[in-house]
This record gives sequence, structure tokens and C-alpha cells, in this order.
Amino acid sequence: MEQADVVIVGAGHGGAQAALALRQHGFEGSILMIGREPEPPYERPPLSKEYLAREKPFERLLLRPAQVWADKRIGMMLGRSVTAIDAEAKRVTLDDGPSLAYNHLIWATGGDPRRLPGEDPNLAGVHAVRTRADVDKMIAEIDAGAKRAVVIGGGYIGLEAAAVLTKLGLSVTLLEALPRVLARVAGEELSAFYEAEHRAHGVVVRTGVTVEAIEGDGSVSGVRLAEGDMLPADIVIVGIGIVPAVGPLLAAGAAGGNGVDVDELCRTSLPDVFAIGDCAAHSNPFADGNVVRLESVQNANDMATCAAKAICGDPQPYRATPWFWSNQYDLRLQTVGLSTGHDATVVRGDPAARSFSVIYLKAGKVIALDCVNMVKDYAQGRKLVENRSTPEPAQLADTAVPLKEFA
Ligand SMILES: Cc1cc2nc3c(=O)[nH]c(=O)nc-3n(C[C@H](O)[C@H](O)[C@H](O)COP(=O)(O)OP(=O)(O)OC[C@H]3O[C@@H](n4cnc5c(N)ncnc54)[C@H](O)[C@@H]3O)c2cc1C
Repeated sequence: MEQADVVIVGAGHGGAQAALALRQHGFEGSILMIGREPEPPYERPPLSKEYLAREKPFERLLLRPAQVWADKRIGMMLGRSVTAIDAEAKRVTLDDGPSLAYNHLIWATGGDPRRLPGEDPNLAGVHAVRTRADVDKMIAEIDAGAKRAVVIGGGYIGLEAAAVLTKLGLSVTLLEALPRVLARVAGEELSAFYEAEHRAHGVVVRTGVTVEAIEGDGSVSGVRLAEGDMLPADIVIVGIGIVPAVGPLLAAGAAGGNGVDVDELCRTSLPDVFAIGDCAAHSNPFADGNVVRLESVQNANDMATCAAKAICGDPQPYRATPWFWSNQYDLRLQTVGLSTGHDATVVRGDPAARSFSVIYLKAGKVIALDCVNMVKDYAQGRKLVENRSTPEPAQLADTAVPLKEFA
């Protein structure tokens, strides 16, 4: 194939949904998805949950059966990367040389795992948790007898991996540089709750510590802290976030920095080039219009639909309500809204009972909820976030009053 009407770069959540949404909205032209990983589009969230725990085989992670892509005439080039874009000629170049022409380009490349300074990418036993291949390598090492794990990074992925590894019988130490886990995404109440849960399950949680080096000769032997300790390890997980995979776009002249900048229709500054998902920096109404990058399945899917509709001639600004989830042990966290910038919190329910919500307010308005084993609050709290409701905080704490009363 030398050209496609729409070329989608990245065959993850955003790329797959963009292709499906184009067909759903009546797009009849040719669609080609180019993906660096060898697998057809699959769900990423289970990688640090059921897939690592071996509760779900890979086949059940596939976003669609293979036949669906063929039936919908969605072409796929897998195991290939796009390395360059010529925005004027409207062509992309592939890693093995050839170039392809497009009418519209959708950039849906997510991000690459952030590395620690000085990290040796060839040291066996050191893992990111981003792809199926990452997790398969880790599983093989556990099968071969790995017993001690150090997880670097107390974000959702690090915490989820720590929970699974503990369940699998490894001894786990979790390291976080900031004073608390989840510091970038949640309030103090939620951080304290999850730290206590992990400790109760036997994880050694150390916050406010700095990793000096990952030690090893050929394969990892441990993690050395700036504080002086040496933590022996058979497996190290580096879960310290991602670097948006936007090199070729920026090199082609697209505006951006931390990701690529997009407008409310997910258009980059290059003609007919859209960007969606983890790599797309956008002004979000749920962040008071501030420019953010969101790393969630919801955001990837909804941006994909937004870009597809714009290409199909039905432009609708991106205004989707952010939501997110995380599973650790028997705890299901559901989040709606963005809590960044909150100036007050209300805890509803009893964390000791392992069923509660944290409601985030800013200038008296509800901006987000974190709901732990509180499905009803999550379902009803959404309206409060969307309406920017201004309930009396003391009343919000009363679990006898359903949240819908405040919407
Ligand atoms: C372990 C883990 C657990 C998660 N858990 C949750 C969760 O519980 N809830 C939630 O909402 N979100 C979760 N997320 C986040 C969610 O998976 C991402 O936000 C989502 O996958 C983003 O979709 P995307 O299309 O932007 O990127 P991705 O799904 O990452 O897809 C991007 C694809 O593009 C490919 N690519 C990159 N560069 C190129 C190139 N130059 N050429 C061709 N292909 C390229 C990549 O290899 C990748 O396959 C989790 C993520 C991880 C890694």
C-alpha cells in the first residue's frame, strides 16, 4: 500500500478507537493503522492487573477479534514504526524505509516509559510495565524463581504491580521519591489509605527516598538509595511515568513540548494531522481550561471519537468528563473529574471499612471524586462534577444522603 485516506500511527487504545469511530460515522475511505508492537490492538490496563496476575490470558485482552478489523476494512501494519513525517508532502516514513501518503493523519502513539538517569536499558530483571512484552519478560523471571521485587514509583501502575507481585508471593518494596504515593493524582487521604493497605498486605512502602542507582552485572542485583541503603532485588520495576512519543511530530514542526499541542478538535498545528490519547496536550474544561495530558482509556477513546467525527465532517469540541479506575487487592477505585488544584476535601464513609469516597472541592465547587468500593457515589457523583455543584461540605459527608441530592 502506498497511500491511505487516513493513516493512524499507533495501534493502541486511541488508534483502534479512531479507526472504529471513523467507520461508525460513515467514513468510506481507506484506513491504515501502523503499530510498533507486534500484537493487534489490546487493552493496556490489565497488564499491571489481571494479566500480570495470570487471571486473564492475552487473547481476552484483544480489543476486537481479528475478523472485525478485516470486516471493517481497517488495514494494519504491525511491528513497524513511523520515524518521520513530511507535513507538506503529507507522507510518513516507516522505520524500514518506505513512505506512505495520507490525506489525514491521526497520531496515537502514547508514550515510552520514563527511565531513571543512568539506567542501563540492558540490565536483565529491570522492567517497565507498558507492553505485553514487558510483562511477559517479568512473568518468565517470576517462573524462574525471582523472589524479591523493588518497585520504583508510587503511582497507579507501581501500586497495582506491587499488589499483584505480593499476591504472587514475592517480597515487595515500593519506593516513592515524594512524601506520599499518588501525590500527583490524588489527595492526602487517598494516599494514606493506599499506603496503609499495601503495608497491611506486607509491602514495604518507603516514601521520600531517592534512588541513586540500579545495581547489577548483566542482571539486576539491587537498588541503591541516596540515603545509603542497598535493597537486594531479583526484579525491579521502574514505574515513573511516560515520555510522550511525539519525536517525529515535533521534528516535522508541530507545536508542543510535553506531548503535542492539539486544539478542541484534536488537531495539531500541522495541516490535517490530529493527535489523540496520552500524547495529546489539550486545554481541558475539567482543569479550568489548563493544558493537560491525560493518561486514561477514557481520554484516548473519547479523543479518538472526536478526531474521527471531525474527519467525517461532524466536528464536536472535546469536552468529555474525565474518568479513571484502578484495581488493587479487592479495592476498586473509580475516579471522576480532575482533582488537581483542589483546596478542600470531604471524606464520605469510613476508610477503615474500606468503602469510602474523597470529594474534592475548589472554591466551593465539586471538581472530582475518588470512590473506593463506592460504586453508587461514583455513579451519582459524576453529575456533581459536571455541574460544578456547590454543596455544603458538612452535608456531603453524610452517607445517609445520596449524592444525587446535591447535583
Ligand atoms: C500497565 C498500565 C495500566 C493502566 N491502567 C489503566 C487503568 O486502570 N485505567 C485507565 O483508564 N488507564 C490505564 N492505563 C492508561 C491507558 O492504558 C492509556 O492511557 C491508554 O493506553 C492510552 O492510549 P493511547 O492510544 O494514547 O496509547 P497506547 O495505548 O499506549 O498506544 C500507543 C501505541 O503506539 C505505538 N507507537 C508509539 N510510537 C510509534 C511509532 N512511531 N510508530 C508506530 N507505533 C508507535 C506504541 O508502541 C503503542 O502500541 C494504564 C496503562 C498501563 C501501561
